[in-house]
Amino acid sequence: MRIRDDPYAILGVASDASPAEVKKAYRRLAMRWHPDRNASATAEAEFKRIHAAYELFLDPQRLAEWRQAHAASAPTDGRPAASSGKASAERPGGRAGDDLTQSLTLTLEEAALGCRKTVDLGQRVGCASCARSGRVQHRNSIPCQGCSGCGRVGRGGAGGTSICPGCGGRGYLRESACPACAGSGWLERSRTLAVTVPPGLLDGERLRLAGQAPLPPGDEERAAGDLYLEISFAKHPLFVLHGRDVHCQVPVSIYRLLCGGGIEVPSLRGTSTLELSPYPQHPLEYRLPGQGFPGQGRRAAGDLVLQLQRVYPTGVGASDVELFEQLEGRLAADLEQRAPPLAAWQKQLRARRQPG
Ligand SMILES: [Zn+2]
Ligand SMILES: [Zn+2]
Repeated sequence: MRIRDDPYAILGVASDASPAEVKKAYRRLAMRWHPDRNASATAEAEFKRIHAAYELFLDPQRLAEWRQAHAASAPTDGRPAASSGKASAERPGGRAGDDLTQSLTLTLEEAALGCRKTVDLGQRVGCASCARSGRVQHRNSIPCQGCSGCGRVGRGGAGGTSICPGCGGRGYLRESACPACAGSGWLERSRTLAVTVPPGLLDGERLRLAGQAPLPPGDEERAAGDLYLEISFAKHPLFVLHGRDVHCQVPVSIYRLLCGGGIEVPSLRGTSTLELSPYPQHPLEYRLPGQGFPGQGRRAAGDLVLQLQRVYPTGVGASDVELFEQLEGRLAADLEQRAPPLAAWQKQLRARRQPG
């Protein structure tokens, strides 16, 4: 669900509606638009829209985020603006349209290196066919499609019938959902905008595009407000960002860790080679200064932090065992130097052995 789609408008509830009122409104609309009950071609899309709006109400954090974003953006349904007046008033050129904030999801690489993105600026305009009512009146009654005109519908597996919710049991309808807008009273009009995203914007930062906000219908002569794109990062399969430091867990075979040598590691620009010192001098964390998320303005670039994860083989074959036995033999010959805890242990066991 896009951030502009107003869940209050979709469910037709007031901004201070109680959870019970929201639930009731949802049930009523879901009943009307359920694809099993409503044969219109747009029923499924409308049902999904209603369901998505209700899900937002069930998630207090997302709802709060939506309300916050909405308070900072232009209203798309003609209601007065909540808090966007100040930015508009500062712009020269007199009356200006409202500002709009829209989210833009980027991969870490896109954000780090900069990119070109196409933004879909959907705009909701009132449906002219039904004068925004969402309903059309019929001069002659039409049979209800939900019950094929009989006024009752089957109750599913349990058998029996109940009053058709589509027509209230009358079997015919004097009005039905407007086919142009699927009964919502609104139409979506879209415009795409090519945007150059500069490198180094972090999650939560905003990119301002002056004069690119969509105008409400009928206001085409006004100067458009600013469009703000709020950056959010998609979850990355390899990297986690801490400030501007990019952290990455690198699995390495225990043999490579023991032998040292070069391993291939990822970076924001691709991969590079990391030289491991031979055992035991190497650390398990390598920090590559300035190779993390790029800096911006006075803020310096972050580091790339590679945390090595030891990976043991899941099994050993006969030829492996032969090699390990050789290594074990060599270690046993030099325990004091190369494995002090084992040397101390052996000493304890020697002291406990029964004489003879
Ligand atoms: Zn309509
Ligand atoms: Zn009916």
